[in-house]
Order: sequence, then C-alpha cells, then structure tokens
Amino acid sequence: MELTVLGCGDAFGNGGRNNTSFLVTDGNERILLDCGASTLIRLKHEKIDLESISTIIITHFHGDHFGGIPFFLISSMFENPRKSPLTIVGPEGVAKRVYDLQEAMYAGSAAKTLDMDLTYLEYREGEPLVIGNKTIKTWKVEHSPPSIPHSVRVEWGGKVIAFSGDTSWTDNLIPLADGSDVFICECNFLDKVSFGHLGYTELLEKKDLFNTKQLWLTHMADEVINSENFSLNRLSDGQVITF
Ligand SMILES: [Zn+2]
Repeated sequence: MELTVLGCGDAFGNGGRNNTSFLVTDGNERILLDCGASTLIRLKHEKIDLESISTIIITHFHGDHFGGIPFFLISSMFENPRKSPLTIVGPEGVAKRVYDLQEAMYAGSAAKTLDMDLTYLEYREGEPLVIGNKTIKTWKVEHSPPSIPHSVRVEWGGKVIAFSGDTSWTDNLIPLADGSDVFICECNFLDKVSFGHLGYTELLEKKDLFNTKQLWLTHMADEVINSENFSLNRLSDGQVITF
C-alpha cells in the first residue's frame, strides 16, 4: 500500500502547503482521503489520472477538506469526460453539500453532475461502511459542529490507515488509531490548547495512547512546520509513505 501526500497544510496555506488530501492505493485502485481546494492542482502535478480514483472520502464540510470536489467534477465532466463510476463518501448530507458547493462555484454545473455515474454514501459513527474490499469506520471528533466533523479509518488489503480529520483532543482518537499501519493526526499548533485543533505539546503527552506503526502529523501552522527540537514525524507535500 502507498500513501501520497497531496496536501498537508492548514486552512490558511501556511508553509505554502496545499490543503488536506491524501492519495491511497493498493496498486490497483486509488482513493482520496479528503479533497481540499487545491487537490486537483496537486493531482495534475503528480500526473494522476482522475479516472483511476474510485472513491473520495471526506472528513468534514470545510473548504480545505472538501472544496476541491467541484474542480475534480468539472474536470471529470468537461475536460476528460469520466467513464468510470465515482463514489463520494462523507458525513450526513454529503450529496446536498457537494451539490450546493458545485452550484456556488460553477453555477449551472451541479445539475450536470446528475448525469455522471456518481454515488454518494453517508457514513455514521459505529456503523462500518463496506465499499468493495475496503471497510470505512468513522468516529465523531471535536471541531466546528456545523462541519459535521469525523475521523476516518480505512481497512484495506489487510492494512489500516487512520486519519484524525480536524479535531481537538478526544478519546475517540484512541480506537481510531488502534492497530493502524499509518495514523495521520492533525497538529495545528505548538502549545496552544483550543477547541477544534490539536497542539504538539498535547500530542507529546498523549502519543503513547496511540497503538500505531507510524504516526505522522498534518494540518500544521508555520510554528509547527518550522519548529526545531521537534520529536514527532511531520508530513510534507509530495511525500510517499509505503506500508
Ligand atoms: Zn476544519
């Protein structure tokens, strides 16, 4: 399995980094974990054929996590008309949220998405969702409630990828990460403790609660990206992790 970091930045473009998106593949199929606004640009940079991406899973309804879907869809409708099915998986109301965003960004285009072979699936905490050979499990997390924030765990090909989404500390991160091959955890700040995001100091205290083979940090502000004397692994855009 391979995970390519398309974007590990925060909402404010700190470090010149792209919005959140991770491309995961088992060698046959590709999926996206989150699809922030800059994702299509980064997919083009990586020379990834959109047609090869079967599924987009989103953690919550914030632009730096799902704002790239309209760009993905207009490319799939008008630039290279898509022939393969596409599944978009997200919190409750995902079909309407994406439709409304599509219409806001490219007026008149949302109705055309109805002609695509596009399936929307809603996940719910505690109800595993099976899509082909992948099982998706989700937990509610602590972030802006209107964004319906969740963490996501994908069990695929005998491997487990866990992703916190955006959140401040919640004990739900412990089962999320348990037994994972890769756990990507947000770390927006260094010392600040606030609702909605995690800090490095807090994660240093809690990291032993995570039963994972690889812990990587994402969604970092400049103070985290540039900090010296840092003892956890920080992602960078373009990085590839094999597991
Ligand atoms: Zn967010």
